[in-house]
Amino acid sequence: MSSPTSSAVPAEVAPAARERDRARGGQYRDHRVVSNGAAHDEKIGPVAYGWLSVATALTTLALKAVAAWITGSVSLMSDAFESIVNVVAAVLAVVALRVAQRPADDKFPHGYEKVEYFSSGFEGALIVVAAGGIVFEAIPRLVAPEPIQSIDTGLVFTAAATALNVAVAQVLFRAARKHRSIALEADAHHLMSDVWTSVGVFAAILAVRLTGWHLLDPFAALLVAANIVRIGVSLVGRSMRGLLDAGFDGEEAEKVRASLDALAAKHAIEFHALRTRQAGSRRFIAVHVLVPGTWTVQHGHDLCEEVEHELRDLAPRTTVFTHLEPIEDPRSFDDQHLDR
Ligand SMILES: [Zn+2]
Ligand SMILES: [Zn+2]
Repeated sequence: MSSPTSSAVPAEVAPAARERDRARGGQYRDHRVVSNGAAHDEKIGPVAYGWLSVATALTTLALKAVAAWITGSVSLMSDAFESIVNVVAAVLAVVALRVAQRPADDKFPHGYEKVEYFSSGFEGALIVVAAGGIVFEAIPRLVAPEPIQSIDTGLVFTAAATALNVAVAQVLFRAARKHRSIALEADAHHLMSDVWTSVGVFAAILAVRLTGWHLLDPFAALLVAANIVRIGVSLVGRSMRGLLDAGFDGEEAEKVRASLDALAAKHAIEFHALRTRQAGSRRFIAVHVLVPGTWTVQHGHDLCEEVEHELRDLAPRTTVFTHLEPIEDPRSFDDQHLDR
């Protein structure tokens, strides 16, 4: 379903369209949000990638748990701890991705995309807790270091888990960009942070093997914990910005402005009160369109349709609101504040 331009709708069809709107739950609701919400014609949807990350997290957790168990290393254990968090986080992300796909309805007329911020925020909080667990295990080992066993076998398992993480993380990064999903991006970042953790722990264990200095093991574990806290804090911060309706980022905002500048020059009109908003993978743009007051409704609406179309074409899943006003009327310029 798409919204036809009014110029293309014969006069006798328009009332029928209005009836359809009413039957859908009210003529005041934006039909585009309703119709686009469920539009997912991609071959592999974001949810499938979510399941891929669940499977990866479970596999790496198993590999690392074996490595930690046979070596008795606290740093390898901290690495496995991080994977437990990844499993929980990946499952949460799948739930969020499923909910985010729901079409907008009467209760949530702006769609469900922002639910992804809950999962990434919770995920961030969760990994900070995991870091606490690692510190709890590592401190006693600093006081009384314990030797590590079967180092070589342990390292083989860690290397296998790391290779798997690298491969899947690259797949997820690409999918996250394509679907503009913060949940998939968080998943991918997790797997990569897991990789760096494993690389660091791998180096530490290798150093223990070469030098016999067992204190390196709990030291490495504490470094892992510090890095996990850093990632968790940034994930929580990102989710909070999303819940506070952050505007478009630099490059995206620039594209919108360039598009409006081109339209203003082309039609000799003006724009003001531009407001952009990110909501998970959806984008909202609101802008006032100032045209000569003598224009007909038809002329003005045709222009608004063009403006909305241009802006919607900048990125998928974008909702545009325009407000048409006469450029000669001073009141047109008094309405640019948030309170209007
Ligand atoms: Zn319209
Ligand atoms: Zn205005």
